[in-house]
Formats: sequence, C-alpha cells, structure tokens
Amino acid sequence: MSVTVRRAAILTVGDELLAGRTINTNAAWLGDELGRHGYNVVRAETIPDDEEEIARTICRLADAADLVVVTGGLGPTQDDLTREGLARAAGVALREDRGLLTQIAERTQHRAQERNARMALVPVGGAAFENPVGTAPGLRLTVAGTPVYALPGPPAELRAVFAGLDLGGAPRSRRILRVYGPHEAELAETLGELLARGGEPEMGVTARGSILTVSITGAGADERAAAVRARLGDHVFGEDEDTLPGVVVATLRERGQSVAVAESLTGGAIADAIVSVPGASDVFCGGVVAYTAKAKYDLLGVPQELLDEAGTVDPRVAQAMANGARARFDADIGVATTGVAGPDPHSGRKVGDGYIAIASAAGTRVIERTGAAPRPIVRRRFTLDALWVLCRGA
Ligand code: ATP
Repeated sequence: MSVTVRRAAILTVGDELLAGRTINTNAAWLGDELGRHGYNVVRAETIPDDEEEIARTICRLADAADLVVVTGGLGPTQDDLTREGLARAAGVALREDRGLLTQIAERTQHRAQERNARMALVPVGGAAFENPVGTAPGLRLTVAGTPVYALPGPPAELRAVFAGLDLGGAPRSRRILRVYGPHEAELAETLGELLARGGEPEMGVTARGSILTVSITGAGADERAAAVRARLGDHVFGEDEDTLPGVVVATLRERGQSVAVAESLTGGAIADAIVSVPGASDVFCGGVVAYTAKAKYDLLGVPQELLDEAGTVDPRVAQAMANGARARFDADIGVATTGVAGPDPHSGRKVGDGYIAIASAAGTRVIERTGAAPRPIVRRRFTLDALWVLCRGA
C-alpha cells in the first residue's frame, strides 16, 4: 500500500517580518501544526506587503504543494494586501460579503466603517470563515486546484482560526515532556535509541534556558512518553506548557505546604520566579536576600562563629540560612542558596561552586553544585536547581 504524503507550503506576509521588527513565530508554529496534521512542509517563504508579489508567490506555492497557508496582511489598512493578492492569484475579483460586513460593523462598534469594509471583501468563488478572537476573518480560495487559506497575522488569531479549519483527518497525537537537569547531550545518551530519527512516533528535543522539551508525535506517543519518563525519572517535571515555578506552586499547594527563601547569589530570583505564578500567595511566605556575611547573621541568624570559620560559601551556612528563613517566616519549607556567581573566584572557592539547602520538619538537606559558567548562567542554574528541588518535595 502506498501512502501519499500531503505537501504543504507556508507563506508569511509582512514588511515587519523582513525588517526583523517582528519575529516570525507564525511560520514556526504553522510548520509544527501542519506536520502534526500529517503534512510534509515543503516550502516556507516570507515576502513584503506587495499585491503583485503575493499573487505570484501564491501561484508558485500552489504549484508546489497540496495546501498553502498564508498569514498576515488581512487587516483593514492600506498596506494589508493579502486579500487582493489572493484574488489576483486566482484571477478573480473581490465581492462584498453583506453578512460579514454586518458582523464586522458590530464587532468594531461601527467605528471606521469605510476602512473596516475592506475586511468584508471575499474573493469570488472563495469563502470566509470566522475569527473568534479578532475582526479580520480567514479566507479560503482554490488556486490552480490547490486550496489556499489566508489567516490573520496576530498569533492568537492565527491559532484560533486555524483550529476551525478542516484539514482532513484528526491531528496526530502528541505528548510534550518538560525536563530539567540533564544537558542535551546527556539526555541524548540516556534516551539512546528512543530518539532515533525516522521512526514512529517522531521524537524531537529542544533546549531553552536550561529547560529541555521532548516532543513525541504520532502513533504510540503515550507509550513512548511513559518510556521516556521511566528513563529520566523526576527530571521530567511536567508536560505541555508547565514551568518549574508553576509546578512548584501547584505541588506545594497540593501538599498544603508553604515556603520561604533565603537567597545569596540568586539575589531574589527564586522569589521572583515563584511570585510570577498566579496564586503564589497560597504557598509563598516571603524571602530574604542576604548577600553579605553580616546580612546572613543579622537577618537569618547564621552563627557568627560559623561565618568566621567557614566564610559564606559553605554547606553549613546554606543549611543555617534555610533554617533561618523557615523559622523567621514560620514556613513549612525553607530554601537557601549560597555560592560563587563569578566572574572571579571568592573565599578560596571556584566560580559556580555553591550549595542549595532545603529545610523542613523532616530535617535539612544540602545539595552541592559545581561547574563554571558565565555569571548569569551560574545564577540561573542555582535558581532552577532550587525550584526543581522544591518540585520534588522536602
Ligand atoms: P490585523 O487584523 O491585526 O491587521 P493581519 O492579518 O493584517 O491582522 P498583520 O497586519 O500582518 O496581520 O499583523 C498584525 C500583527 O500580527 C502584527 O503585530 C504582527 O507583528 C503580527 N504578525 C504578523 N505576522 C506574524 C508572523 N508571521 N509571526 C508573528 N507575528 C506576526
């Protein structure tokens, strides 16, 4: 049995995309979504807001693919020319859609009617379909036998309109696992043959800000996700859009626990990450940024003799800081960081060396961290490590 692979082409329209003022996230998003719908994306092009060029490119892409998706240039202004370009590609005129005109007038509360009327123009022989989150509708037209969809440029509108399209068949199943801890190369080694290219389900790994995302697409995605989880253990901290701080807040809330932080080299970054999550007040008591030895003594009660003897980068100091935060904020859990952010070594310790301590009724645990890196990265790793430790519980 031969399987026909359907080819798709993506066309993103907009001067601002070419000038670099807007990052072309639509092309990336569409590439991924079309792949998930079983299309092989054979072209992705970006062109200026130019009617003639839009028409020409649509014709060329319609020749090369079984489906063309265009985004951008559907708005009400003079430089939005996708509607005209699309009609021209098929050699048809634009007609006013009365129903659409009424709808748009209502949506825009009858403001700037003349300008908005452009959005009620539909190529003859084509169809408009609703944009549930914006004004400019999507358009469909057949060009040289190939269906061409023109969708609005604002990413939220694109997604909403795309969700309503009938692209033939349900999208392939997908699982997205979020991973913290291993580097990309370590992950590749641990997952080994599970990541082999060209198989089903399809595997992908991307890295961003020390967080790895493993995407698993196609038949058997659930089983493969279970296998990946079994190998990576609690380094898989969540799925889909989960973030480390989000999972920290959800986990603590579930357990009915509160947390306080004592931060030296992370300088408030852990507190900031937790507070960025809506509803953090259910679990977060507060924190202290204690940078100097004096602040660690004054604000967290780290014993002076210990600081004199060991300096600030020491596991016992981290422990005392975590206990100090826990006691002062009357929290269930205290978390502390102390270490050398760099670029210079300090107190006889190397850049990247330091400790994360977590204190609870169950006792105190200290995790040692090493590994030189530029200052922002050292600080980020301590922050994420502390959050990851919190996800796993005290
Ligand atoms: P509108 O109805 O808002 O005018 P439109 O279909 O005409 O929508 P554009 O005018 O091209 O779309 O762009 C509107 C907004 O969408 C702009 O803020 C633009 O930066 C953003 N946008 C357009 N194309 C893309 C793209 N390819 N990737 C990400 N953002 C985009």
